[in-house]
Amino acid sequence: MPKERLNLYDCDACGRRIITVDRDEGTTSFMLDCRATRGCEGVMRSGMYDDEVTGTPTYEWRVPTKSEYRNMSPDCQDHADRGGLFIYPIVAEQAEVTINHG
Ligand SMILES: [Zn+2]
Repeated sequence: MPKERLNLYDCDACGRRIITVDRDEGTTSFMLDCRATRGCEGVMRSGMYDDEVTGTPTYEWRVPTKSEYRNMSPDCQDHADRGGLFIYPIVAEQAEVTINHG
């Protein structure tokens, strides 16, 4: 198991940040389209794993699944083939399951 590393990305437009976690070994991007604010067109820059990051990550870097890979553009598949990781929202252990007690 690779060590899961946390990283920060800061948006240059809205000033918000996200925490990411590396799930797999591979390369991550230095810059991202803003994912902190819906509709924001800013660019987020990596904190380069510099700081001690504490908090709950909301995005994860990982190797795409087979079906995700199949649905990618050739450019993205090429990136994956070279060991590039992709960023995905972390789906909370789902649980908006409503249980009616009684
Ligand atoms: Zn932004």
